Amino acid sequence: MSNIESYKVNCSCGKIEMSMEGAPRVRGFCHCEDCRELLNIPYHSVNAWENNKVTTLKGHEYIREYQHPNLNMKKFYCSECGDTICNSNAMDWRVFSQLLIAKYYNGNLPIELNSESHFFYDRRIIDVDDELPKHS
Ligand SMILES: [Zn+2]
Ligand SMILES: [Zn+2]
Repeated sequence: MSNIESYKVNCSCGKIEMSMEGAPRVRGFCHCEDCRELLNIPYHSVNAWENNKVTTLKGHEYIREYQHPNLNMKKFYCSECGDTICNSNAMDWRVFSQLLIAKYYNGNLPIELNSESHFFYDRRIIDVDDELPKHS
């Protein structure tokens, strides 16, 4: 890990800005069906922090929550630009797309946030041919 102590993310319109403190609990590609169902994506490139490590720096009034009717997951999105800024999982961690974080850093994800593995790979709908370990 580098000496970077916190990270930032914002939505496309810039109304919402959040910071995430310290090293993420997860950095990887999630192939589970819950991410697919919540976000309508083939797999999710994630950095996740515990909820108490995440602070809304601005735009609290623009944050909208969507509780999925069947999953123990929420989406947090911007009322102005519609960007999903993060989602929660069953452990109530805050799960951020690496792509959204990278936007904050001019398209370059901080290197220590890069994925170290694929997980729930047995549930995948897309094969990924890379060097990273694949966990079920
Ligand atoms: Zn926005
Ligand atoms: Zn998932």
